Parts: sequence; C-alpha cells; structure tokens
Amino acid sequence: MSIQEHIVYLEELSALDEEIRAVDDTLSTERSALAGKKEELARLEEKIASDEKSIAEMAKTRTDLVLEVRQVTALVEKSREKLSRARNERETNAATRELEELRNIQKGHEEQIGKLQLLETEASKSKEEAEVARRALEDQLGTTEGVVSKRLAEAEQQKAQMLERRQGVVTKLPRPILSRYEMIRKRRGIAIAATHNGICEACHLAAPPQLFQKILRQETFEVCPHCQRILYFKPSDAESNKEER
Ligand SMILES: [Zn+2]
Repeated sequence: MSIQEHIVYLEELSALDEEIRAVDDTLSTERSALAGKKEELARLEEKIASDEKSIAEMAKTRTDLVLEVRQVTALVEKSREKLSRARNERETNAATRELEELRNIQKGHEEQIGKLQLLETEASKSKEEAEVARRALEDQLGTTEGVVSKRLAEAEQQKAQMLERRQGVVTKLPRPILSRYEMIRKRRGIAIAATHNGICEACHLAAPPQLFQKILRQETFEVCPHCQRILYFKPSDAESNKEER
C-alpha cells in the first residue's frame, strides 16, 4: 500500500476520532448535568431531614420549659401566700427573696421559650424553602431524566457504530503507522496535519524546505518539526480545482 493510501485512511481515522471525541464530550456533559441534579436533590433531602429533626428537638425543649414554667408559677403562688402570712421581718425577707428567685427562673424560662419559638419559625421557613426547591427539582428530573437517558442511549449507540467503523479503518493501516498515530494522538489530540505549501496547517509554522520536498515526494512519513504531528501533502482547494480542469 502506498503512502497516499495510508494518508487517506489516516485522514478517515482522524476524522472519526474527532467525531468520537465529540460524542464523548456530549456523553460526559449530559451525564454530569444529570448527576449534578441528583446530587442537589440528595442534598435537599438531607437538609429537610435535618431541619425536621432540629424543629422536633426545639419543640420538645419548649414543651418541657412550658411545663417547668407551670410548676414555677405554682411555687410563686405558694411563695406569695408565705409572704402574706409572714409574721416578722426575717420571714418577710426570706419570702421576698424566694419570690424574687422564682420570678427570675420564670423570666429566664419565658425568654428561652420566646427564643426557641423564633428559631423554630426560622427553621420551618428554611425547611419550606428546601421543600419548594425539592419539588421543582423533582419535576425537572421527572421530565428530563427520561429524555436525557434516551439521548445518552442514542449517543452510546452512535459511539458504538463509530468504533466499529474505526476498527474497519484501523485494520487497513500497518501496525507501525498506527502505533505512531496513537502515540501522537495521545499527546496532541489530533495526530495528523496537512500542508500544501510547507506551512503545517495544525501549528501554522513552516517546515524546512528540504523537509517539504520530502513530503511532496510522498515516499516516507514525515513529522512536523514544531508540533510533531504526521505531516502530509494535500493540495489546496485552488490547486485541486486546477488539476481537475
Ligand atoms: Zn505542525
């Protein structure tokens, strides 16, 4: 097989590899978008659960405090009675002090209850917001997940067909040329570059004239000295039109 024929297959292979790369990009973009939405949904679920837990805990603490306040209120009544029955200054002072302490406890508890109520309201609000976001996301996933999965399956199928076509081209190329192609592709993305006037069309730098002469003779495979891609001669559109005429 001549170099010209190898070049035709290399061009075909390179074009296929670009198509496969594009499909791979689509696949990974779609997959990560879907995964991102699912992650966000899981995060919201977690947030809602933890909000629920802290709301329940705060409500429990608040209920306990309300019960304690009731007990303290009963003690305040008793203390008031004691004060009204005080027979001397000592008893009056003791009852007054007791009453004061009890009222302080009452006040402290009531303040805590108020704070808890505020915190509970805030937590409920944030939980409701998360629930709204969750519903929106669930709706979104409900309508898009099927569509995205279908698109993914189509792209997978497309890729399988391309890989099959690629295999067909690969078998037509000699091993050394193929491994050289793969090696350069790994490093450069695109492994081949055309030139019609000595300027590499991939890196836009000029090949030395001697090298260009060798490329024109198409006897051996040459590599661009600047970007290391397989450099081959391809007449420009104007030139090939001239030839055809
Ligand atoms: Zn180059």
